[in-house]
Amino acid sequence: MSNPSHPVHTSELAGGAPSAGEPDQTALRDPARLAVLAASNLVGSPAEEAFDRLTRLAAGFLNTPLALVNVVDHEKQYSKSCFVPPDWPGDVEAPLADSYCRWVVVEREPVVITDARLDDRVAASRMTTELGLVCYLGIPLLLSSGVVLGSLCVAGFEPREWTEREMAVLADLAASVVTEIELRLDLSARKQLERLKDELVSVVAHELRTPLTSIRGSLGLLASGSMDPGSPQARRMVQIAAQNSDRLVRLINDMLDLERLESGTLELERTHVHAAVLVEEAVDAVRHAASAAGVRLESGVAPELTLLADRDRVVQVLVNLLANAVKFSPQGGVVTLLAERRGEEAAFQVRDHGRGIPPEMLDVVFDRFRQVDSSDAREKGGTGLGLPICRSIVQQHGGRIWAASVVGSGSTFFFTLPVAGGGVGGGR
Ligand code: ADP
Repeated sequence: MSNPSHPVHTSELAGGAPSAGEPDQTALRDPARLAVLAASNLVGSPAEEAFDRLTRLAAGFLNTPLALVNVVDHEKQYSKSCFVPPDWPGDVEAPLADSYCRWVVVEREPVVITDARLDDRVAASRMTTELGLVCYLGIPLLLSSGVVLGSLCVAGFEPREWTEREMAVLADLAASVVTEIELRLDLSARKQLERLKDELVSVVAHELRTPLTSIRGSLGLLASGSMDPGSPQARRMVQIAAQNSDRLVRLINDMLDLERLESGTLELERTHVHAAVLVEEAVDAVRHAASAAGVRLESGVAPELTLLADRDRVVQVLVNLLANAVKFSPQGGVVTLLAERRGEEAAFQVRDHGRGIPPEMLDVVFDRFRQVDSSDAREKGGTGLGLPICRSIVQQHGGRIWAASVVGSGSTFFFTLPVAGGGVGGGR
């Protein structure tokens, strides 16, 4: 067992001689780390007793004039809690170049400094040259996700050898700081989730209200008795009510499908199935709509291409993509469905020569209720849930789905699925 009062030297903990100059910026700029830091709401927020109590304890236990909870982003160091002498001229914010704690974030290890004037990492820092800091001990604020946000540190104005016992005490206090930070992160994640849920409820309510209003309007007119029930206008009202009821049923079915897919309650029934069988089934399903719209369907499938997939769900994806391609094609247009093998994947594409999708919408159309044009739902009879359902099905199979398009020339939707081992399977 090591002697707990044995002094610890910089080189023992930082893995050799201190590195000079600037640390590698990769860790400081890591977008995932910065996102967690932003969600923690530690930067720029007011002091909190929960953190101040811990810096007071740190300064008390280690008998140092300074103890701080510092977090570091890609530009500056921010002190969430400062236990400092009353006449301390330092600020709660410091440029990154002056920060001792940036070394803790980069090294992901305790930084132990006996004499800052002799340590290449911090000798030139304004903290050393102007504020007179000499000794420093910083413990990483290491979250359970592996992210280091900053450090709990103590510092003083005289050279000092830090003991293992002191490091252990500071490490325990740093763990308490981390607990506080993780509580805040949990809370902010929960609030974000609630906000998303509220948004979804309001979008869904809006989507349901539109067809309901139309049904209510048609039935109201018929019920008022002001219209001859046999007249063409009355028949039109009934037709509108029926179309909108269909739309409501589609919306609710799609919402239930998506919910079951995303919550994982819908188990995929994977079997070996020939791609040609799925393609034929999907093309048959949209043939009527295509001929009504004057659109020609073409397909090409690599022979013997066999998937390990849920047959009905893959047909659902193909039908959705084909139906969209038909909907957005001009009369006389051609929609092409191709399936081929690429390595261990089956690659599908559905191509049209319709109006296309602007580049900034290519990802967005896979989100719920997102449409390129807000009139698409009404005029094209869509629900805005087709592509999110496709994405969910493809991803559950371990595949990918994306779109490419040139506005005015057409769109191509691509997706991949795993092939059955060897590419020749039983079929179904
Ligand atoms: P919808 O039921 O409205 O078709 P989707 O989720 O399937 O819902 O599609 C979302 C939106 O993406 C459509 O409303 C349309 O704006 C756009 N979109 C989808 N496929 C195409 C396509 N082939 N060409 C042009 N726009 C498309």
